[in-house]
Amino acid sequence: MPDREPIADLAIVGGTVLPMVRNARETIRATVLVRDGRIVGLTRQRKPRAKEILDAHGKLVMPGFVDAHCHGIHLLMRGLSDGLSYHDWLERLMYRALPAYRAADALVASKLFCAEAIRSGITTIGDSTDFGNRADLVEATLEGITAAGIRALYFRNFSDAPPRALRANREPAARALADIAALMDRRGSDNPLLRIGAGVNEAHFVTVGGFRRAVELVEARDTRLMVHLAEVEADVQIDGINVVDWMRRNRLLSSRLVAAHCVWLRPPQLRTLAAAGVSVTWQPSTNAFLADGVMPLREVLAAGITVGLGTDDTNASDHVNMFTEMRTGAMSTKLRERDGTAVSPDTMLTLATRGGARVLGLDREVGAISPGRAADLIVIDLAALAPFHDLPSALVYQATGAEVETVVIGGRVVMRDRMLVTLDEVALRAQAHKAALGVAKRSGVVSSRAEGYADAAQYLFSQEPDEPN
Ligand SMILES: [Zn+2]
Repeated sequence: MPDREPIADLAIVGGTVLPMVRNARETIRATVLVRDGRIVGLTRQRKPRAKEILDAHGKLVMPGFVDAHCHGIHLLMRGLSDGLSYHDWLERLMYRALPAYRAADALVASKLFCAEAIRSGITTIGDSTDFGNRADLVEATLEGITAAGIRALYFRNFSDAPPRALRANREPAARALADIAALMDRRGSDNPLLRIGAGVNEAHFVTVGGFRRAVELVEARDTRLMVHLAEVEADVQIDGINVVDWMRRNRLLSSRLVAAHCVWLRPPQLRTLAAAGVSVTWQPSTNAFLADGVMPLREVLAAGITVGLGTDDTNASDHVNMFTEMRTGAMSTKLRERDGTAVSPDTMLTLATRGGARVLGLDREVGAISPGRAADLIVIDLAALAPFHDLPSALVYQATGAEVETVVIGGRVVMRDRMLVTLDEVALRAQAHKAALGVAKRSGVVSSRAEGYADAAQYLFSQEPDEPN
């Protein structure tokens, strides 16, 4: 008998493939073959041997998006942040509401966040929970991520010198890092899509010694360390010097460091980050919503820094959608530079896929379609974008996310024809709404703008019809 190719698990047939390998606009007509969770070939076969065939005629097949920086469980506090500036938002809302979370709240929030992410074509997330010392919240968040079937690098945060308002979050660095190392050991085995990193939240929330030991841990484990950096002008200095210079002086810069935001850094500090191999995540919607400022994309890229896009806080933009991030990022950059050529849609697509993958250290796994990479793919209905002339432009400026029909992660179909396979979104919305009201009530946070919000909202998922008057 002649050798025959082993049967594929999945074949995506008839689509236009945007591999994102050479650039953001070169497409090919090809069948994508998937086996054991990986892309094993791009072929001309119209009738491949496969256990499951996805018909993609008239569709675009592209890599799933990488949401390089997010905080999924913050989603329960949507609608409470409008009108707050960054520090007010932290102190009046986040530092009060997050401690009021229970594990069940984190679980439903994590699942619903993943549902919304998958709906807009996100297949990898770089998620963080701020209260790292709350093991119940960490475990519930990871349970939600695992249930969704999304790929994740989860940053387990710690603070050994938090501000007064966050003192309940304080953990000695040695204990926290031992716990993070144990989580890394344990979590790799029960969910192959999940990796663990560390996070220090803000440079001024940790001691220099704690920060340095965290860097050493992620270097030894070949993973990543997340830090929020210069999101607002007030946080650019630490101990009287620029925070990047302070980190360099204290030997805290590393190629494993992922710096979120960097809105207020100038070229000398950006070059310092680039020289150390630090990568940056950009969250344009949150930066606009909280009026932080606009990250200087041109200067960041000119310095040679790897950049990924993130949806960030889910309650400080109230939205989980990578198309929104691409569009808002492009438009805010044009406005900042007052130059319509300041950024191309090609660049935005690259940041949302390959850029994020490199930031998270997953660039050999995800961010592009090529044999050997993980089968993390999305299928987009091109007819829903008509009329269009330029594909990258249509994806960045026309698409809303509703055009994403099917999502495959690690070879598994997690959304088929807009129906989530792994999660019950209708039930999750009702549960999340109830959980959100519970957190708001227990923590005492209320919207400054919408009086009576809670009363009105209770009826959203009421099963009983109202009595007629
Ligand atoms: Zn963040």
